[in-house]
Amino acid sequence: AHLERISAVDGAVGAFLDVDADKALAAADAADAARAEGAVPHELAGVPVAVKDIVVTRGQVTTAASRILEGWVPPYDATLVTNLRRAHMPILGKTNLDEFAMGGSTEHSAFGLTRNPWDLERIPGGSSGGSAAAVGAFEAPLAVGTDTGGSIRQPAAVTGTVGVKPTYGTVSRFGVIAMASSLDTPGPMARTVLDTALLHDVIASHDPRDSTSLADAPRGMAEVVRAARSGRDLTGLRVGVIAELDGGEGYQPDVVRSFHEALSLLEAAGASVETVSLPHLEYALDAYYLIMPAEASSNLARYDGMRYGLRVEPATGPVTAETVMAATRGAGFGDEVKRRIILGTHVLSAGYYDAYYGSAQKVRTLVQRDFAAAWQRADVLVSPTAPVTAYRFGEKDDPLAMYALDVTTIPANLAGVPGMSLPSGLSEDGLPVGFQVLAPQRADDRLYRVGAVLEA
Ligand code: GLN
Repeated sequence: AHLERISAVDGAVGAFLDVDADKALAAADAADAARAEGAVPHELAGVPVAVKDIVVTRGQVTTAASRILEGWVPPYDATLVTNLRRAHMPILGKTNLDEFAMGGSTEHSAFGLTRNPWDLERIPGGSSGGSAAAVGAFEAPLAVGTDTGGSIRQPAAVTGTVGVKPTYGTVSRFGVIAMASSLDTPGPMARTVLDTALLHDVIASHDPRDSTSLADAPRGMAEVVRAARSGRDLTGLRVGVIAELDGGEGYQPDVVRSFHEALSLLEAAGASVETVSLPHLEYALDAYYLIMPAEASSNLARYDGMRYGLRVEPATGPVTAETVMAATRGAGFGDEVKRRIILGTHVLSAGYYDAYYGSAQKVRTLVQRDFAAAWQRADVLVSPTAPVTAYRFGEKDDPLAMYALDVTTIPANLAGVPGMSLPSGLSEDGLPVGFQVLAPQRADDRLYRVGAVLEA
């Protein structure tokens, strides 16, 4: 049914870069066969999933939406993909994204636009825009995204779906093409909180092949949701509204209004709501846009035209390692990726390192301390997921205007804490608005508890 839905609508939506119907159907048959043999299958056995094309899949083209990896067939699976296969979940295909996950609109893919199912003239968010659109357009019930600075939560918000960035280290980064390694967090996307939790439990695992993988990765989220749904009670829960992210310049007034309506639902369920200040969030966006390009520029050094992917020889002059590298990278990377590589190498260069990269790392510590202090007063922190709803294509073609919209999502990545975006109604012009919930590290269960009650 999902393959038929993809055939019917993906020409218009453009969520997928690659669909492999034969492999998906074979995996579905294998799930049936396991069942017939009397195996007790996983609850999600046979339930299809879409995977962001920055996650490597053995034998299936993986590009990170970049020309530099066009046609690359990985010889191995990411750990999270191994986990999906073990659960007998068919992979429908690979979804579109901003090249190497750099962006917030999926307009920066080398392979074309993905459109928002709510309005085809608008962005589906990003960078996991393909995964969000696939779920929002009912092309897939579940999808995997990655969140380095909001790339699961923001596309979920603008497509009216649920997206979770788990605690950093919960889902293995092994086989997830690196953007900024200290921030990259794969996670689940779906249309309901329970579906998101079920997928969370499948992809979360301890993985010795990722040195930052947690030994005690939070799991058992589906149980949390089921319990919360029957009780619908948040008595005793302390909800902190992040003062620095509660509207103001750059926020759409109807987004802020919808956020406050959701707060009253939390109060009605018995939670107490108070405002909490995290004063260093003022500098979080700036710190992110120094740390992220620094890490990305170093991660992307591997695309050298020698090891794998695109190789371009210079049109004239000698063919040396250096000229091949320059020609390959010149042709293979898009503008947004080049911009960040230049920025990253600059902030890491001798003479600037302390002033930029060093200062940004100090700010990161201050943001982490702000969160630590906030958890003394609140069990969860909340804000709008994004300051605005889905904008029209081309509307934010100034890169700084696009970066500014990440102000609400980035703090969670700097602090490594888990975050959820869930739908909280529609804006005045009928577009989805997202409500963001954050919790302390390893307390992902609180997101699911709050999400389950708000959804109900
Ligand atoms: N929009 C942010 C950026 O452009 C976040 C990207 C991400 O989370 N992958 O960097």
